[in-house]
Amino acid sequence: MKIGFHGGVGEVTGSRHLLEAEGLKILLDCGLFQGHRKEAIAKNRETPFDPKTVDVVLLSHAHVDHCGSLPLLVKRGFKGPIHCTEATKDITAIMLLDSAHLQENDADFFNKMHARDGNPERIAPLYNTEDAKAAIALLRTHPYETWIPLNDKVRFRFHNAGHVLGSAMIRVETKTAKGTRNVLFTGDLGRRKTILMEPPKVSNPVDYLLIESTYGDRLHDPVDRVEAIMKEVIERTIAEKGKIVIPSFALERTQELVFVLEKMMRRKQVPKLPIIVDSPMAVSITEIFDRHASGFSFSPEFRDYVAREGSPFDFESVRYSRTVEDSQKLNSAEGPMIILSASGMCEGGRVLHHLRNNIGKDTTTILLVGYQAQGTLGRRLQEGAKKVKIFGLEHEVWARVQTLHTFSAHADRDDLLWFMKAHAPRPRTIFLVHGDPKDRLALKEHLHAEGIDRVECPEYGQEFQLE
Ligand SMILES: [Zn+2]
Repeated sequence: MKIGFHGGVGEVTGSRHLLEAEGLKILLDCGLFQGHRKEAIAKNRETPFDPKTVDVVLLSHAHVDHCGSLPLLVKRGFKGPIHCTEATKDITAIMLLDSAHLQENDADFFNKMHARDGNPERIAPLYNTEDAKAAIALLRTHPYETWIPLNDKVRFRFHNAGHVLGSAMIRVETKTAKGTRNVLFTGDLGRRKTILMEPPKVSNPVDYLLIESTYGDRLHDPVDRVEAIMKEVIERTIAEKGKIVIPSFALERTQELVFVLEKMMRRKQVPKLPIIVDSPMAVSITEIFDRHASGFSFSPEFRDYVAREGSPFDFESVRYSRTVEDSQKLNSAEGPMIILSASGMCEGGRVLHHLRNNIGKDTTTILLVGYQAQGTLGRRLQEGAKKVKIFGLEHEVWARVQTLHTFSAHADRDDLLWFMKAHAPRPRTIFLVHGDPKDRLALKEHLHAEGIDRVECPEYGQEFQLE
């Protein structure tokens, strides 16, 4: 057996790990590298292995940094099945079509700019809508905790990962000449206590563990603080007849926020006010959440709530805005109201229009609810910029900018340590993936302090023999 790391190592995007076992080449995730750096663009265009020789893809979840390179794999000759859970299939279809659309737009923009400057260089999109559809056609779904044979010596099954709806850890069990070996890939791992999701499942035995390390050196605020902070912001906004603009990620964060807000209003912790979800992708994903609301991925508390109160996503105060006209009407609408709109780091999407219209008013609260990467508009606002550019025009920031550190779909340092210590006997090797170099090195040191030493931090392109 052999494992090769071809992305998502020493960084948090582009997850791609190639496991070779008993004559099979099994690709664990096939994610897109994100960001505008040259390095990310180059890595997206190269495939360090021949896609035609890959037998099967096992997909952990629907985030683009885990599934977004599947259309390219198919375009370059992969013909096998792509296995995932049912909710992951539904969400992946939306994500891949959206990603193809962005790839096409990016290439168009690049080509137009070059044509304008008299530069003859043109680029083709990384993949197009047809390639995305071809990848979607290969998705095959399976429930959690069910063994699926790949050949007479290798089988796999999914365990709940607690990260986002449909997310799975992938266990590959192989009968080798030396005995049975289990490889467990966590994908992205959820927290022990979250608002919507069932916590990650611990299951033994594991010989080789590939575990994410995004927050290997950080702790999240406890989830119980959300309501207190929200209450304060909502009461202030009602008194001032203002607007709360929440740049939000379409998958998970939007649905978590709707659930928290709905629960607070239904319990009369705060007065009812309109909650508008203004993002076509978030609206489509929320419909998938609604379909799966009683499913096993969700926490028992959430399922109980749905059984008692009905789906939080069709609460009377929540409105979904799909069309551009609906979105534009919000500009002149009177507050108080809460607008949830993508993208989460204010890098694109409809939230930019809401920021442009409301950032200059001192009755606006911009509530940041997710990680804000360096160089993004969200980060500049978080750092207290007094003037920012939106669509090329400068705006003075009179809105209050507040950050909620409570929301995260990723395990923090203590969750990760808990998960690793729960495996007995200890894995032969733990591979730390999906984390920036500083975070995963810190996690390695924390593990060392706990007496866990067989830990590797693989580099891009590195391969390991598994005994
Ligand atoms: Zn993820």
